[in-house]
Amino acid sequence: MSTFDGIVREFPYIRIDNFTNYPDEPPPLACFLSHVHSDHLKGLESFKSTFIYCTAQTRELLLRLEKYPHRMNFARGILESRKQTYRRLKNHIKPIPLETPTEIELAPGQSIRVTLFDANHCLGSCMFLIEGNGKAILYTGDLRSEQWWVNTLIRNPVLLPYTKGTQRLDNIYLDTTFASSDALEYEMPSKGEGLNELIKKASQYPPETIFYLNTWTFGYEEAWIALSAALKTRVHLDDYRWRLYSSQRDQPTCYGPQTAPLVGYKLGNHEHPGCLTNSLEGARIHSCERGTRCEVFQNLHAANVVWITPIIARHKGNEIAEIGAGGGHGDLNQTHSLELYDLGSVQQLLAICNRVLQAQPELKEPMKEWFSSLMKNGKESINLDLEILRDEVEITSQDGRPDDEFDMDNLPIDKLVPALTRLITGKSKQEEEDRIKQQRQITFPFSRHSSYLELRELVQAFKPKDIYPCTVDRSTYTYDVSMEMLFGDLCSANIFQADKELHAQLGIKDSEAEDEESQRSTPSPGRDRPTVPQPRHSEPIIEHDGAEKTDLSRASEASPIRSSSTVRYETPKKRAKTSRSTRSTPSSTQSDRNVRREAMYNAALHQRWEKGFFTSVDGYHNQEPEKEL
Ligand SMILES: [Zn+2]
Ligand SMILES: [Zn+2]
Repeated sequence: MSTFDGIVREFPYIRIDNFTNYPDEPPPLACFLSHVHSDHLKGLESFKSTFIYCTAQTRELLLRLEKYPHRMNFARGILESRKQTYRRLKNHIKPIPLETPTEIELAPGQSIRVTLFDANHCLGSCMFLIEGNGKAILYTGDLRSEQWWVNTLIRNPVLLPYTKGTQRLDNIYLDTTFASSDALEYEMPSKGEGLNELIKKASQYPPETIFYLNTWTFGYEEAWIALSAALKTRVHLDDYRWRLYSSQRDQPTCYGPQTAPLVGYKLGNHEHPGCLTNSLEGARIHSCERGTRCEVFQNLHAANVVWITPIIARHKGNEIAEIGAGGGHGDLNQTHSLELYDLGSVQQLLAICNRVLQAQPELKEPMKEWFSSLMKNGKESINLDLEILRDEVEITSQDGRPDDEFDMDNLPIDKLVPALTRLITGKSKQEEEDRIKQQRQITFPFSRHSSYLELRELVQAFKPKDIYPCTVDRSTYTYDVSMEMLFGDLCSANIFQADKELHAQLGIKDSEAEDEESQRSTPSPGRDRPTVPQPRHSEPIIEHDGAEKTDLSRASEASPIRSSSTVRYETPKKRAKTSRSTRSTPSSTQSDRNVRREAMYNAALHQRWEKGFFTSVDGYHNQEPEKEL
């Protein structure tokens, strides 16, 4: 989950992946979007200042994303719904092709050069190399820096000066999702190995088997392609997901390596289909949203349905599931939310619940507690899971059948109460489904983010002067996951500005380190000082978007049945308990830190050896990069 505030320290007049309006900052002169995952779209709903640059794929996906905020009209006793899209930004979003240095004029006489590189994360995702004014940075967005991918990057003609060392990047803004204390040791098979495992497992089932591949967000496109090719069948998507992906077919600029395999192409006069389809015909694999009532969900008990769940890694005998996966909430789902404006609206909703629940008085107290916790936590909306809505909200069309359009507009608020109740009563139905699934489930490792060792390979390839972490969990942060500790031996300078800012905010002192720092940098005063004005908002402003809302579906994660063999990526709270004691780790000497860093590296490396995924180049971690003098 990206925590980046969008402000690039070396180029303060541009913004990347966070479109929050900071009142104290001047409006950006250009914006960049690395991919369409919702944690990279903060503030985009109300964004209106300038052009946003991204890949052509990202543009088409973004313009088709839909959200459905519902507000309560208590006077009329109904919900009012609207469809929210980014369509209004149509003329503001400009696609740039990959690997093509592109000059962008920000103001008369002021320009930057930007080059996009594929990030191996999800359809359309990219990194940005930004150069100008004697500075150069690489913003990775989310990425999976597998070794083959790093090798390809190293020989990219545009990047050669930075990978061959004739120039150094001033900073890498890095996807540090798995550079957190409990994830350092995760060793992840390559995507290719993961897909191979999936194909092998799926191929063992009889030919009449139906597979449901839970692709809850963008980024599992290769799994579709692999499975479809191996099983010689197509993948069913619901209409919304099909609209998102088929958008790629209509735009020639979107054509990338995955486009034709996914959505087809024209062979002479013949339309050659891709692996995705919104038709049930000939589709043995389903990745349709669960709430859309596809026939695969009607036959839940059928013995021929096999559930496929991607996991991040297997670690010490446990499967590490991705948070959000399987919970029903995801970027590829239609997002419905219930807006809670103020205490008054919460109280009115509670009164309606109490009235509707007259026959179930035992629910009133838990319902009250739940509402008061919403208010205490300042929640402004509740995420509504389409599947639960479908199950619990009786919506029928005129002929009495379930309404496929599922129009929540004008729905009496009373009808929503059963869906809210399901939050409190637990989700027995969900648990039952999970129990069935567990009996016929395939998991396969397929991480969309890099392991610590993979990140080291990327950093090693560039030896940048500094690193800025784009995912920081403040509740579990310790000095041991500072950029200096994790990557300091691979950097070509000793700046670590982001560490310093964060340590100042969190009150972490490493005075001896600072002393050493000042001694080292005496000959060149100013080298380590930031060269741009520091942003006043280093703490990202939390938007009330999907990621931060109360999530109807999240409650299911606590289910004991759900994951007997699966360890979820621990919540910050849980981890905070174990790490708080180490937060104030006393400062250490340089040699002490080297020993600790080496230990962390070795622990991660050990996992890689154990799992047989050893792919690293020999002993690079011991190489001392030339430090800048
Ligand atoms: Zn992402
Ligand atoms: Zn389906």
